[in-house]
Amino acid sequence: SPDFCSQIITPTCNTTFSYIDELNKQVRPILTKLIHTPFFKYFKLDLDKQCKFWNAQHFCATENCAVEILPSYNWSEVDDDLRPSKLGEINRATSSVESMETSAQTCEDLDYCHIDDDHHCVYVNLLDNPERFTGYGGSQSFDVWKAIYSENCFPNTNPMSMTKDEPEQCIEKNLFYRLISGLHASIAVHLSNEYLDPNTGEFYPNLKIFMERVGKFNDRLSNIYFNYALVSQAIVKLNELISIPQFINQGEGDEKQFFSDTNYNELFDSVLPSLSESILFNTSTLFNPDIVSPDLKNEFRSRFKNVSAIMDCVGCDRCRMWGKLQTIGYGTSLKILFELEDPKNKHLLKFRRIELVALFNTFDRLSKSIEAINRFKNMYSKHLDDV
Ligand code: FAD
Repeated sequence: SPDFCSQIITPTCNTTFSYIDELNKQVRPILTKLIHTPFFKYFKLDLDKQCKFWNAQHFCATENCAVEILPSYNWSEVDDDLRPSKLGEINRATSSVESMETSAQTCEDLDYCHIDDDHHCVYVNLLDNPERFTGYGGSQSFDVWKAIYSENCFPNTNPMSMTKDEPEQCIEKNLFYRLISGLHASIAVHLSNEYLDPNTGEFYPNLKIFMERVGKFNDRLSNIYFNYALVSQAIVKLNELISIPQFINQGEGDEKQFFSDTNYNELFDSVLPSLSESILFNTSTLFNPDIVSPDLKNEFRSRFKNVSAIMDCVGCDRCRMWGKLQTIGYGTSLKILFELEDPKNKHLLKFRRIELVALFNTFDRLSKSIEAINRFKNMYSKHLDDV
C-alpha cells in the first residue's frame, strides 16, 4: 500500500506531508475565495504562438480541450491599464556603481519564464476553463513530456533515459527535476480528480487512474508537496517585501472591497507571516559559488525558460493554457527565491501583474491537488476495507 506519511526532508525542503496537509486546511478556503476575485481570475496569453522546437499542431478534437476566451468587448474589464501592470520595482536605493556594473543586464534577463505579450494575446477567465481530463495523450503528450525532461532537464536526472545514471549529487539539479515531476504529477491529480465518464459526460474522481499515475509513486506524491513548499515559501517572501494586498488595492474594482474582508486579511496578516518562522523551503544552501559553478544559476534559469517555451508545443489548448500559467507561476517563485537575496540582481527585479496572477493560481493548483490526494487516500482506505 502507498506510504502517504513518509517524511520529505531534503537539504532544501524540511517539512512533512502532515504539516503541509494541516497548513493546506487553513489556506484552502481563503485561496479558493482569492482566485475567484477579478484580479486573479483573468489570464492573458497567446494561444497561437508557434512551437519553436518542432512542427507541432494545435488542434482540439473535443470541447474538453478547448479554451473559452473572453470576447474582446469584455476586455476593458481586465485591461492592464486599469490596474497596476507591474508590481513596482521593489524599491531599493541603488548606487550608481551598482547600476553601472549591471547595466548589461535587464530585468527580463532575470526572468525564469516567457510571458506572452503580443497582439495575438487573448484574455481568459480561468474559472470558465477548469484544469481537468481533456483526453490529450498518446505519443503527442509523451513527446512533450520527453522534451521537457530530456532536452531541458539536466542529463543525470532524466527519468526517461534508457541508460542508468549516476546518483544525482547536485541539489540544484535535483530541485529542477522535482519541480518538473511535481508539475507533471499535479496535472495527473487534476485529470484523475475530474475524469470524464464517457457514458454520462460527467466528471468524477477516478481512484484507479489516480493510483496508476500518482498514488503508487511516493516520489511523485512527494514532489507535489515539495512544489507546495517551494511556492508557498516564495509567496511568504514576497509578502514580507511588499504588502501584496496593498499592491492589489492600487487597482480599482471589486477586489478593493474583497481585501477588506477579514478572512482574506487572515491569509496575509496571520497565516503567511506565521510561516516565516518555520522555513518550509530553505534556499540558503543553493547556488553556493564555493560548491557549484557560478554559471549554474544562469543555466538553471535558461533551462526553465525553455520549459516554459515548450508549452507552446502542447497540442491541446486547455492543457497549454494551464501549462503556461503554471510555468509562469513556478518561474516567478524561482525568481523570488533565487534572485531577491542576490545582491547583484535584486535591485533589477520587477514583477508584473500576470506573474502575481500565475503565482497564486499555481499555488491554488497545488493546494487543490493536496486536497484531492487526501480525498483519494480516504477512498483508497475505504476500498481496502470493502475488499
Ligand atoms: P504521461 O503522464 O504522459 O507520462 C509519460 C511518462 O513520464 C510516464 O510513462 C512515466 O515514465 C513518466 N512520468 C509520469 N509522471 C511522472 C512524474 N510525475 N514524474 C516523473 N516522471 C513521470 N491531460 C489532461 O487530461 N488534462 C490536462 O490539463 C493536461 N495538461 C497537460 C499539460 C502539459 C504541459 C502536458 C505535456 C500534458 C498535459 N496533459 C493533460 C496530458 C497528460 O499529462 C498525460 O500526458 C496524458 O494523460 C497521458 O498520460 P500517460 O499515463 O500516458 O503518461
